Amino acid sequence: MNSSTSAPAKPGDFIRDIIDADLQAGRHDEVITRFPPEPNGFLHIGHAKSICLNFGLANDYRQRLPQSKTRCNLRFDDTDPAKEDTLFEEAIQADVQWLGFEWGGLYHASDYFEKMYEYAEHLISAGKAYVCSLSDAEIKEYRGSVTTPGKPSPYRERTTEENLDMFRRMRKGEFKEGEHVLRAKIDMANANMKMRDPLLYRIRHTSHHMTGDKWCIYPMYDYAHPISDAIEGITHSICTLEFENNRELYDWMIDNLKDYAKFPSRPHQYEFARLNLNYTVMSKRRLQELVEGKHVSGWDDPRLPTIAGLRRRGYTPESIRAFCASVGIAKANSTVDMAQLEFCIRDDLNTKAARVMAVLKPLKVVIENYPEDSVEELNAPYWPQDMQKEDETKRTTRKVPFAREVYIEEDDFMLDPPKDYYRLGPGREVRLRYAYLVTCTDVVKDASGKVIEVRCKYDPNVKPGESPPDRKVKGAIHWVSAKHAVDAEVRLYDRLLSEEAPPTGKDSEFINAINPGALQSLTGCKLEPSLASVKPAERFQFERQGYFISDVKDSKPSNLVFNRIVTLKDSWTRAQKK
Ligand code: ATP
Ligand code: MG
Repeated sequence: MNSSTSAPAKPGDFIRDIIDADLQAGRHDEVITRFPPEPNGFLHIGHAKSICLNFGLANDYRQRLPQSKTRCNLRFDDTDPAKEDTLFEEAIQADVQWLGFEWGGLYHASDYFEKMYEYAEHLISAGKAYVCSLSDAEIKEYRGSVTTPGKPSPYRERTTEENLDMFRRMRKGEFKEGEHVLRAKIDMANANMKMRDPLLYRIRHTSHHMTGDKWCIYPMYDYAHPISDAIEGITHSICTLEFENNRELYDWMIDNLKDYAKFPSRPHQYEFARLNLNYTVMSKRRLQELVEGKHVSGWDDPRLPTIAGLRRRGYTPESIRAFCASVGIAKANSTVDMAQLEFCIRDDLNTKAARVMAVLKPLKVVIENYPEDSVEELNAPYWPQDMQKEDETKRTTRKVPFAREVYIEEDDFMLDPPKDYYRLGPGREVRLRYAYLVTCTDVVKDASGKVIEVRCKYDPNVKPGESPPDRKVKGAIHWVSAKHAVDAEVRLYDRLLSEEAPPTGKDSEFINAINPGALQSLTGCKLEPSLASVKPAERFQFERQGYFISDVKDSKPSNLVFNRIVTLKDSWTRAQKK
């Protein structure tokens, strides 16, 4: 983690308890973890949880152990040549670094293909692996079910010599895909189906993004993963709960190879609950479908829960780390409310994002008694009073120009407002924030009856920002001087799905649950002139509206584009209740 971010006191969790006990009992004198993504897509907020846990452990134990005895590796689990790509590897590295973490070493499972092959020959020689020539369908059938034991493959009793010869010929490329596989010889009647002679290698005549055409047999996850862990000296191999049944096989691999391979550690696997969030989808397969089906603009579309999407949306690494810490590490799966993530970004930006004025849906107001060509430069604070900002060197105020014509938000005017509407309406008085009190005297409508201009008078006796002695003016609305305003496009982002959970039916049915309002693009928005020179990826609070960021890809000085990161309040829940 960046040295600037002081590590918050971590609440204990069951994994830290296990590590503490291991250190205390002398089972390990190191804490070496790894984050093992498959480079077949971009990382999402669920991966962030695993990253914060794995890298976080290495960082935490660095405070107790010598530097050399704790690290977290980034290891690409690149055992499936068909789906993987260097482009994804680059994106994953960028995401991990952006989250604030540094890896001890950067590895690939494919770095160990030669070792894995050697170990496979060892297993064959020890009578613990065999070449099976059943078809995929037959293998499945022979495996049995949870209620019925499997039956042995007719190829299970091949001699060591025959197995070695065939496995070598598999490597040489003498067979077609699916003709033969290498299987561990364990127990076809084991209660744990994972132990029923699992596949170790299969034939794939496909180029690999790292090893090219060197290999045409590729190891399976259950074989490659424990070996990669053990070669790297991993002590605690942490994965999500769906791998619980694989643990027995993980142990089998290590136990059957450790004497031969002389691994630097005896790693153990521990499982924790994966992160699920409502109103979105997280599996890479579904994210890929959204990207490839052009339902979103790319892997970094700000509607997506990918790290790249959240970053472009305007989330900070601090907010994501705080979110992961707030979710905690548990042993039971659950779904976290999106509102919890939104709370974390609001909480972080509150002290980081300067307040400015921007009118998203402009309605012109003409202040009839204000001199035609007069302009006043009014002082406006960037921060609420008494607020401790993150960076005290930041400027505290700026000037905003005030003139006869201003824009206000369409929603801040009503022709026939209810009594408790503290904004503008015929005969109503309101404060223009940091400026004057104005009273609506008339309106101009278009042919359809829509109000297109509001006429007002201001009270010249009440100075900007001061209160009148004789009356109470409750409302204060934001505004921007019409002739000084800078135009911008503002993209209002909302939750990806309009339903809490995607439909459980056929897989692509979740496409129908996409929230059509998840992106609403507004053009001709009016910003105060201080925003004319914003650089990409600068964050602000647009007063009364939410937090916004200048879009890192599309915003140019000549064509400003802002993304809404999050609204100020939880408007979603309220809108849903209605
Ligand atoms: P997905 O199922 O979302 O496509 P995956 O599990 O296939 O993801 P990997 O690249 O294999 O993705 O994952 C790398 C690591 O991140 C694994 O250790 C995995 O357990 C962890 N991980 C993936 N999704 C989550 C999640 N939602 N919450 C916590 N950890 C996760
Ligand atoms: Mg996976």
